[in-house]
Amino acid sequence: MQSRRSDEPEISASEPALRIIMRRLRQIMAEAGDGQSRLDKIVRHVAGVMVAEVCSIYLKRRDGSLELFATEGLNPAAVHTTRLKRNEGLVGRCAELGTPVNEPDAQHHPAFSYRPETGEEIYHSLLAVPILRSGQMLGVLVIQNHAFREYSDDDVETLQATAMVVAEHLVSGAVANAEADAEISRSLAATISGEILSEGIALGHVVLHEPRIVVTKFTADDPVAELKRLESAITELRAALDEMLEQEQLATDGDHRDVLEAYRMFAHDRGWERRLREAVQSGLTADAAVESVKNRSRARMLRNADPYWQERQRDFDDLSDRMLRILAGRSSSEHLPADMPADTILIARTMGPAELLDYDPKKLRGLVVEDGSAQSHVAVVAKALGIPALGQAEGVVEHVGPGDAAIIDAETGEVYLRPLPDVISAFSDKVRFRARRQKKYGALRDVPATTKDGQRVELNINAGLVYDMEHLEESGADGVGLFRTELQFMVSRTLPRLERQAQSYRQVIEAAGGKPIVFRALDIGGDKMLPYLHKVKEENPALGWRAIRMSLDRKALLRTQLRALFRATAGGELRLMIPMVSTAAEMVRVKELFDAELGLIRRKGMPCPERVRLGAMFEVPSLLFELDDLFRLVDFVSIGSNDLMQFLFAADRTNAKVASRYDVLSVAPLRALRQVLQAGRRHNVPVTVCGEIAGRPVEAMALIGLGFRSISMAPAAVGAVKSMILSLDASEIEREMERLLAQGEKDMRRALLRFARHAGVDH
Ligand code: PEP
Ligand code: MG
Repeated sequence: MQSRRSDEPEISASEPALRIIMRRLRQIMAEAGDGQSRLDKIVRHVAGVMVAEVCSIYLKRRDGSLELFATEGLNPAAVHTTRLKRNEGLVGRCAELGTPVNEPDAQHHPAFSYRPETGEEIYHSLLAVPILRSGQMLGVLVIQNHAFREYSDDDVETLQATAMVVAEHLVSGAVANAEADAEISRSLAATISGEILSEGIALGHVVLHEPRIVVTKFTADDPVAELKRLESAITELRAALDEMLEQEQLATDGDHRDVLEAYRMFAHDRGWERRLREAVQSGLTADAAVESVKNRSRARMLRNADPYWQERQRDFDDLSDRMLRILAGRSSSEHLPADMPADTILIARTMGPAELLDYDPKKLRGLVVEDGSAQSHVAVVAKALGIPALGQAEGVVEHVGPGDAAIIDAETGEVYLRPLPDVISAFSDKVRFRARRQKKYGALRDVPATTKDGQRVELNINAGLVYDMEHLEESGADGVGLFRTELQFMVSRTLPRLERQAQSYRQVIEAAGGKPIVFRALDIGGDKMLPYLHKVKEENPALGWRAIRMSLDRKALLRTQLRALFRATAGGELRLMIPMVSTAAEMVRVKELFDAELGLIRRKGMPCPERVRLGAMFEVPSLLFELDDLFRLVDFVSIGSNDLMQFLFAADRTNAKVASRYDVLSVAPLRALRQVLQAGRRHNVPVTVCGEIAGRPVEAMALIGLGFRSISMAPAAVGAVKSMILSLDASEIEREMERLLAQGEKDMRRALLRFARHAGVDH
């Protein structure tokens, strides 16, 4: 028997090349040795199995160039010396296009670039494949031969699968070499911009919501059995999609249906099935086949800028992920990670408020979603949990893997994926700075929010979950100015019954420790859909069957809630406000229903509050023309500026393209707010503001300038707003506001910022 070098492959004629390579790669990774020697072994081994005279690994550097990191066959002196510029030569072209380059006569190809130091002039044929991971180009794996060799599809497939495994090992740090590691980290670092949903900064590690399964086994021990596994997974996938399409609820929902139809089309695509089969027949596991086919398709799509095709690619990625979950034996609803890191940065294509609450809030550091807008309810929940969150972070899911390090900067709207050490240290400083600022605000906790000229401003918090209530104590706020009762409904999978509602209100009241709470009657609809109530899709849900419109049609819903609130506030005071009131007549109907219900409970001698105050939210501009009629009916008014602004400007608050197009700090909305406040004064009815604008220092300063003395905001905003108030002279800002409105100031924000700077207001 001939003796073999220990790192030489055992080649048996019948064993597919890929399987041999995979087996050997596993061994190499398990062996001791530094990163460079591992890369050297990989190229030597791949060259041997693929019967190539040359095998090289080029890794991408920060400037986009490709550096030769390891080679078998080329001049060893060229390693770490040869660098190809972006798009230079066939290797550069492979990286640029993200697809294999297969050239039997490479030297006569117009893109060929001759590098004398490598000694490659004697090699005629070349096969280069990109080393891709999570859509990121890490480098290029190349084989070359003297002969004019026509590399087969099998060769291409084998080299691509090898590149995939190499990529995983590079990222997992298995090829640990100080220099290689540093280069790899640089090529992997990415920054994605998004819209701020909830402010703050977070450092942590990625958990993918409905995560992609990470393939760890690449070669199949029994290809025949593997083919069976693949076939049964395809059948299961198709059946699951058919079932989803048949569901009555989805059948009426156009968007979902379109997506599912597209998935079904892909799932029945013969080309896809054929490519999967071929990959398994070449020795890959079914899982690795799915990943490999997906990567190839992604690489092709990288070249296609057409948004339609990019969207189709996203569908295809999702479908592949579903398939991987089936292969891993996980149900598609099983989305929670078994072991969530203590510093979880949750990354999702889309996320509902209920889903977010499925995660352990103690371990959640931040959230990044590909859709979502600042006014959506997942943003509300993120704020309630006090975690920074970004929305509209396009492509983020494809750019990360579970466990990757990530930093969310929800001050500038950026997420840093796999950040470099200097970025991490800069952010650690930022976090420390914020902690100091929080400490400063914390020190103001028990200081009353009084302006320099002695005007007391009532600062309340907005809440909606029991979680929020601890912020009341922490922030030192005066009470809860808006308790969004629908959140309990949104986080529950079925309609909460009377006693369950009452119990949760009791918990909230108890947690408030005697501070007042303004409950808001159910505000469902618009951006707050409940799957168990909204069976019919509306064209314009924000203008649709929502909030009080729904409650007046489904009186049982409102009655049940009223009874639950009466029970929970028995013997005390109930403050309740009605959302989305559009006419005074609507308020009359609500009042009748409220009085009738309370009368009934009292007559029956059942527990009920001693005092009640019934208010209206001011969110619909039609009320501007019925102010006196409205104020005659109510005990208080709270301005919901989020909705009021969307209706005043006709700009959908959930549509990022238009949501921030109009500034609330401009003449029209400020005049509207002033009119409401003046009407309140005429009728001696308090008017407060509880939309997002109350939580931003400059906006809050403008509100005080208009005359508001009670505002309600997200708990995290209380410290900054209080600090602003303590440095403000209320009569000065009132005069300034009067002047700016009278002159119809065109750039109100700039003018107010200038005022704040000159007057030394902390903003
Ligand atoms: C508002 O519209 O301003 C408001 C406070 O209510 P929500 O954001 O819950 O619609
Ligand atoms: Mg509203």
